[in-house]
Amino acid sequence: MIAAAAVPELDALAELVERAGPLARHRVLAEVDDHGVRRRVHALELGSTAADTPLLIVVVGVHGLERIGTQVVLAFLAALLGRLTWDRAGHEVLDRARLWLLPALNPVGLARGTRANGSGVDLMRNAPGDRVGRATPLVGGQRLARWLPWYRGEAGAAMEPEAAALVTWVAHGIASAPAAIALDVHSGFGLVDRLWFPWARTRRPMPQLPELRALVDLLDGSQPHHVYRVEPQARAYTIQGDLWDHVYAQHLAAARPGVFLPLTLELGSWSWVKKNPRQLFSRQGWFNPIKPHRLRRTLRRHLSLLDFLQPEWIDPRAPRWQCAARSSQARTRRAGPRGPSRWAGPTAPAAHGTAGREHHQIPAPRRLRPADSWPRARCGG
Ligand SMILES: [Zn+2]
Repeated sequence: MIAAAAVPELDALAELVERAGPLARHRVLAEVDDHGVRRRVHALELGSTAADTPLLIVVVGVHGLERIGTQVVLAFLAALLGRLTWDRAGHEVLDRARLWLLPALNPVGLARGTRANGSGVDLMRNAPGDRVGRATPLVGGQRLARWLPWYRGEAGAAMEPEAAALVTWVAHGIASAPAAIALDVHSGFGLVDRLWFPWARTRRPMPQLPELRALVDLLDGSQPHHVYRVEPQARAYTIQGDLWDHVYAQHLAAARPGVFLPLTLELGSWSWVKKNPRQLFSRQGWFNPIKPHRLRRTLRRHLSLLDFLQPEWIDPRAPRWQCAARSSQARTRRAGPRGPSRWAGPTAPAAHGTAGREHHQIPAPRRLRPADSWPRARCGG
């Protein structure tokens, strides 16, 4: 049972859970207090129950003000449930893969219309870990005051319950997955829709840059007119305590053979403000489309991306993936140690005194090497 308590998105979620019936397994990952009201972090798990199947995780509502992310994912779920009433191929995909949805990580922020959670903490700045490189001032996370935005929480304190629940849930999901993609949806930055990949805390290249490049090649090839600007998150700004950096670093440290690519979809909300400047006068207007036609456009705009992000695309055992990844690997090698020229860009100057430490904490892009037990694909060309 989902306690909706005056949050329309949670009402809609409750209806979809009912409509999904046995197609979705509903879990409560955490419960947080909101002035005496208990608010829950809900998760829906669709598809295979086997832990060693490919996994797509979609997380939204990290920042409560950014309601549009939750609405986009609910629209996707509604469309998927509608399609599954007739689409046998859709059922076959779910038989061999998992789709996990977390439609509102910050239910208190969603109910109150705030970026932070009920304790004033920005959940996307709340992960532990040493600082690596220099974070963008303020927006990169701060410990000056709880009432200012981007507050990380007290130094040394445990993670907030919502953030801890997310990290545990994702780590459990990807532990045995041969291939996993996470997509976290935000709004409030830029004029175009961006697909960001790690790192958030440094401009050094992510270790799985060749795999990421191969995925983007597949996206470019199968959706040639897509709207996304794909780039490392740190190109926009660098932050400390990013949850996805944390989960990704843990995954790398465990040296698992599976591929895990955490992506962030940052909706270009400044374009909504540009077209309708009156939105500047409302806090919701900075982060969400207000005009009904623009809202509908946004709700349908990202369905094809969510359809595309089937984790089977990056299963290292799949021949088409191996071939795409090998060709990407060759391009990465030709482009030199900083990776494909498309994303090489200028690297951020390391903060004084941290250059050596940073070098050790951020592994370099590695060679693609499928596990020995997986058959090697024969690629043409
Ligand atoms: Zn956000």
